[in-house]
Amino acid sequence: MDQQQTFIIDAHLDLAMNAIEWNRDLRQPVFSIRDREKGMTDKLDRGKGTVALPELRKGNIGLVVATQIARYVEPGSTLPGWNSPEIAWGITQAQLAWYRVMEEEGEMVQITDARQLENHLRLWFDNSQPSVKKPVGYILSLEGADSLVHLSYLEKAYSYGLRVCGPSHYGPGRYAAGTGTTGALTIKGRELLQEMDRLSMILDVTHLTDEGFTEAIELFKGPVWASHHNCRSLVNHQRQLSDEQIKILVERGAVIGGALDTWMLTDNWIRGVDDPLECGVYLEKIVDHFDHICNIAGNCNHVAMGTDLDGAFGKEQTPYDVETIADIQKLKNILLKRGYTIHDIEKIFYRNWIRFLQNAWV
Ligand SMILES: [Zn+2]
Repeated sequence: MDQQQTFIIDAHLDLAMNAIEWNRDLRQPVFSIRDREKGMTDKLDRGKGTVALPELRKGNIGLVVATQIARYVEPGSTLPGWNSPEIAWGITQAQLAWYRVMEEEGEMVQITDARQLENHLRLWFDNSQPSVKKPVGYILSLEGADSLVHLSYLEKAYSYGLRVCGPSHYGPGRYAAGTGTTGALTIKGRELLQEMDRLSMILDVTHLTDEGFTEAIELFKGPVWASHHNCRSLVNHQRQLSDEQIKILVERGAVIGGALDTWMLTDNWIRGVDDPLECGVYLEKIVDHFDHICNIAGNCNHVAMGTDLDGAFGKEQTPYDVETIADIQKLKNILLKRGYTIHDIEKIFYRNWIRFLQNAWV
């Protein structure tokens, strides 16, 4: 590892979605992927990606929480998605197949328990080996549970390494209502949480509605985190955490990953219209959210990184001083200037997630 750079864990990246649905070869550098997308107009973020495996290594981001994600949509829905849970499951299996081939190629390694975590950290903290040769570790998480055809599919998924589940995403969900809707967990959603408890999985509360959050926190007994989630009192939207929710998460020992999607960092962002530079959205904006959570908690033990970079958006919706994900290393100096100590920064960059995982995986 580069001596100058602190190790980073990013708790939310849709790597396989980018590979399978965006057709991005993430073994290539970000700029090669952008070149290959020149002239493409099928998605707003074509030619504007910021995440690839070489840039993760360049930024010493040696461990990520990587998703499987596939929404089921009912007839008439305006959301992107798949027309049956069975098709959605098929998409998640294609995503899994991509992670597996990355493992076979030595590009990535799956982390499913405390021993593997310890071995992986030992490898990344061994400065005698260059980080270009190290596989990026990933913990598998399911963002939105729609693709679980029946509850029994959760155990199937656990057996191939799924360790985290967020029951909802955007819109209505088969297990829980998501961002932009109201309502709590469905009956199946309540059963899902019990099954997650039985399997000792981690609950990701990101994308739950307020009702869903309250219900899930009461029902679920196991470890809880918010993988990519900012503060509602700074940028007002249901997708963000209220102060009350932050207090509850702190009491539960949760860690909250700061997200770098511009609309979560500034008010009234208009997707596809606003520009990060013109709107003054730069990396330091996330520190306001860190400050806020640390003030509520009375310490720095509950904030960390969960960037969501390339989560169906690219440079057009990313802080303007982040050209690629490797630039999140710049946060170190920004945090120092804002009064955080090196010890605090290590907590934010990786120690808080590690502590959480070690407690979750005893
Ligand atoms: Zn998300």
